[in-house]
Amino acid sequence: MSETTSTDVRDVIVIGSGPSGYTAALYAARASLKPLVFEGSVTAGGALMNTTEVENFPGFKDGIMGPALMDEMRAQAERFGAELIPDDVTEVDLTGDVKVVKTGTDTYRARSVILAMGSGYRKLGIAREDELSGRGVSWCATCDGFFFREQAIAVVGGGDSAVEEATFLTRFGSKVYLIHRRDELRASKIMQERAFADPKLEMVWNSEIAEINGEDRVESVTLRDTVTGETRPLEVTGLFIAIGHDPRSELLTGQVDLDDEGYVLVRHPSTHTNLPGVFAAGDLVDHHYRQAVTAAGTGCAAALDAERYLAVLD
Ligand code: FAD
Repeated sequence: MSETTSTDVRDVIVIGSGPSGYTAALYAARASLKPLVFEGSVTAGGALMNTTEVENFPGFKDGIMGPALMDEMRAQAERFGAELIPDDVTEVDLTGDVKVVKTGTDTYRARSVILAMGSGYRKLGIAREDELSGRGVSWCATCDGFFFREQAIAVVGGGDSAVEEATFLTRFGSKVYLIHRRDELRASKIMQERAFADPKLEMVWNSEIAEINGEDRVESVTLRDTVTGETRPLEVTGLFIAIGHDPRSELLTGQVDLDDEGYVLVRHPSTHTNLPGVFAAGDLVDHHYRQAVTAAGTGCAAALDAERYLAVLD
C-alpha cells in the first residue's frame, strides 16, 4: 500500500463515529468547518450498532433500532459536508499547533481535533454473548432495564457499577440475581447494605457464567461454582454484564491527560483537554452517564468549543 501525506491543514478532524463523533461532525459541518471524520474500520457507528431497540433517544416516540439511529446520524453529518473515512487512526501527535493524525497508510493534519473514540464494555468472553446482545444480553441497565419488567434477571460483577445496576433493575425485574466470582463484593459498604436489604435482590456467591442458553433470546444461564466447579442452570431472560469498561485512549498516552482508569480529563463543563485545540467527548470522557444522548450532547459541545478555538486563531 502506498503512503500518502496530505499537505492540507484541515480545520477539524474527528476521531470516532458513535453519537459523540457524528454529532460533533454535524455541528462542525454546519459551521462550514468541513470536518474529516475517522469512523474506524470495523465498527463505524459505535456501540449502538450492537443493539436492537433504542427507546430512550429523544425524537423517536416508538423507539428506533440502534443501527438505524446511527445511519441517520451518519447521513445527517454527511449531508452538511462531513467527509467520512472508514479507517482506524493508529497514531497521533496532538502537541503542536498543527495536529498530526495517521492511519496505517496516510497522514492528515488539522488545527483542531475532537476525540470521540468511546469506551469498550468488558465482555465475559463466552459463547453466544455477542450473538444474544440486544436479545437478553445487555451492558446497560438504564438503557434496557425497562424491557425486563416482571422477568428474572442476572447481573454479573462485584463492583459499585454491578451493585448499582442490580439495585436499579429491581424496579423492573420480578427477581434480580447478582452473580459474583468471590464470596464478598468490592462495592462500597453503603451500596452493599442497600443491596442486601433489597428483598428482590439475591446474591449468588462464588459463581460465574459458564453458558448463555436460549434459541433467539436468553432463556437461562448455566452457572459454574468457582470453588467446586459444579454447574447448575438459572432461569433468567436478562443477563446484564457489569464488569467494567475500557476507554479507547491508548493512542493518547503521554500526550493527553487521562485519569487513573484511562478516561480523558476535560475542563468541565467544557470539552477542552490539557492540549490547546484538542477536545474530547462521549464515553471516552464519561464514566458516569454513558448514554447515547449524553454522548451526542458532549459531541455538540466539542464542536462548539473547536469552532470558538478556531475563531480566536483566525
Ligand atoms: P461509541 O458509540 O463507542 O463510538 C466510538 C466509535 O469510535 C466507535 O465506532 C469506534 O470504532 C470508533 N473508534 C475508536 N477508536 C478509533 C480509532 N482509533 N480510529 C477511528 N475510530 C475509532 N445508550 C442509550 O442511550 N440508549 C440505549 O438503548 C443504549 N443501548 C446500548 C446497548 C449496548 C449493547 C451498548 C454497548 C451500549 C448502549 N448504550 C445505550 C450506550 C451508548 O451506546 C453509548 O453511551 C454511546 O454509544 C457512546 O457514544 P460515543 O460516541 O462516546 O462512543
